[in-house]
Amino acid sequence: MNIQTQFCGLILALTLLFLSFSRRSVWLRTRKAFIFTLSMTLISLACDIGSVMAITGSGGDHSLNTIAMCKAYLISLIFTALAAYIYLSIDIQVNQKRSNGKRIAGVVLAVVASAAVIMLPIEIVYEGTFKLYTSGLSVMVAYFTCMWFIVINLFILLTNRDEMSVRRWNASVIWMLIWVAAALIQFSKNEILIVGFGSALGAMIVFIRIENPESYVDRMTGYFNSQALYAYMDQAYSMEKRFMILSVRVVNSHYLYERFDNHSLHDFLRNVAVTLAKEKGCHLYKNREWEFVLLFENSDFFEASAKSVEEITNQTWLIDGEYVRIDMSLTKVPDSSIVMDAEDMDELLRNFNKEHETDVKRVYTLDRMWASGYRKKRNLENMIVDALDNERLEVFFQPIYGIRQDRFVSAEALVRIRDINGEIVPPGTFIEVAEESGLIVDVGATVFEKVCRFIKNNHLKEKGIDYIEVNVSAVQCSRFELAQEYINIMEKVGLPPEMINLEITESAAINSYDALMYNLKKLREYGVSFSLDDYGTGHSNLNYILDFPIKIVKFDRQMTQAYFSDVRKRSIMRHVVDMIKDVSLEIVAEGVDEEKQFNALSNIGVDFIQGYYFSKPIPSGDFLNLLNETENHDIIYGKA
Ligand code: C2E
Ligand code: CA
Ligand code: CA
Repeated sequence: MNIQTQFCGLILALTLLFLSFSRRSVWLRTRKAFIFTLSMTLISLACDIGSVMAITGSGGDHSLNTIAMCKAYLISLIFTALAAYIYLSIDIQVNQKRSNGKRIAGVVLAVVASAAVIMLPIEIVYEGTFKLYTSGLSVMVAYFTCMWFIVINLFILLTNRDEMSVRRWNASVIWMLIWVAAALIQFSKNEILIVGFGSALGAMIVFIRIENPESYVDRMTGYFNSQALYAYMDQAYSMEKRFMILSVRVVNSHYLYERFDNHSLHDFLRNVAVTLAKEKGCHLYKNREWEFVLLFENSDFFEASAKSVEEITNQTWLIDGEYVRIDMSLTKVPDSSIVMDAEDMDELLRNFNKEHETDVKRVYTLDRMWASGYRKKRNLENMIVDALDNERLEVFFQPIYGIRQDRFVSAEALVRIRDINGEIVPPGTFIEVAEESGLIVDVGATVFEKVCRFIKNNHLKEKGIDYIEVNVSAVQCSRFELAQEYINIMEKVGLPPEMINLEITESAAINSYDALMYNLKKLREYGVSFSLDDYGTGHSNLNYILDFPIKIVKFDRQMTQAYFSDVRKRSIMRHVVDMIKDVSLEIVAEGVDEEKQFNALSNIGVDFIQGYYFSKPIPSGDFLNLLNETENHDIIYGKA
């Protein structure tokens, strides 16, 4: 009998069904649809075998029994194709409501086609065991309906390529192509009954590549893994279903690695998993190496578990026969709607946990406020990257007046971003984010090169400018490469290093003493000078900073303004000025915006004045005009 291939297909489909149930798995909708497809494949193979047996048994007559068997087979084929369609359309889920409607239309089509198969005539051809097939209108309707579904499926796959993972897409395409090939073979040579086997083969590929429940299981603990968590969250977001998360992490893993071998640590982690899995109303996932996630759909269960898990994090654990205190922290995410999709939630949770890695506190809540702060930061980062890529960093200059010299002797270079709307974004908005993300390294170098070119191209020396002050962030100073990179830039531009004064802050010395010392010495030897910025904010421990080769101290605006607000502060400031002069440093007072301030500060021995009294930071062109208008250079040549 010509049913060997069907039998192979039957065994294959049965095995797959067995494997699908042999492992615990997340009941995703795609999984349900796959099980449905597999079951339909199984039924259609059984009907196929049944109909071949009925035909051969009856010698090819058109008895009701044989006809019923053949038509049942045709109907089961239609439903297998429908199941595949439902599987793929659930997987895409671009628009929940619309695709629901389409799926209902698919079911209606399958039912109508089945009714037609029942009503329309069928022709049974039987010329011996190896030449046996059915034809007629009934068969035509079944084949064309199946073909219709296959074409629709291929269409879905082609138009939604971006929505699917490459793996999923490839497997689904192969699945459909196997069907097309099998259908074409059977269509052109009726007696090769291969469609049923083809569909089982296709299902096997989908199983191996995507629907294998093994791929959702964490090997070490036997619970779900991060892939399962992601798939679950993805589905919940597309169905607009709210969920809550408890994330439990072991913080002192480094210490554990040092003390225990891998085997005992795996036992410990399994132990933690078993303990957490006892929580009610949730699924347990092992998300990252040292992180477990409990996911809830019901907030009562969530609240209850939040308390009991907090206790779990405080308990001692038996590792390798020893009771050990483990530093665990717990992050609660009470509302999944703070982000729009699984990818964002994954990223948010990862970054939230990273940010709190070193805190002493152990229980945190990731809420909407943190999420929006995080998003703002990310937007700023994107803006900075975009500005770097598209040359939208601009340097403004704020002139610095020399009291002794009676002219502008310098200027501070201050960075701005010109955003896509042409508006100026001040550094207060983005410098902190640039420092946190490390983008400040590129921002700093870009600003520095722009400044070097500006000085060189406009012959600032001849315009009375002795040097330009450029800000260097503490983050930059902590990199040993800084000095050489800046020297390379000056060499490339051909700028005499005496034209550069770098402003550093005390925090750079506190955070990375060695690197700062190395960079400063190297650049100092090359010919660059330094200012200490922000003096008068924070601790301002001058003793500490005296180790470094500094030429100028810059009084912060706060300090300058305090001088005029309080008699005692005035007296302190006089002493500070004397002290700084004692060690032969020069002083810039920042934030001077009135004439009386200018006069007072000149009288106590400040060397340079920077502030709105003379000028705000201005674009480079305006700065050049200012130098020309005030005949800054005439002043020097006049005096010389
Ligand atoms: P900063 O280094 O202390 O720069 C002085 C700030 O005080 C400038 O703000 C300047 O516009 C402002 N200022 C000067 N005189 C007056 C005044 O009389 N009244 C008032 N109200 N403000 C005055 P800006 O340009 O917004 O820069 C803010 C900060 O951003 C800078 O503080 C500096 O820490 C940072 N920054 C600016 N450019 C760069 C850069 O290229 N690299 C790095 N790392 N940081 C930069
Ligand atoms: Ca500065
Ligand atoms: Ca300053």
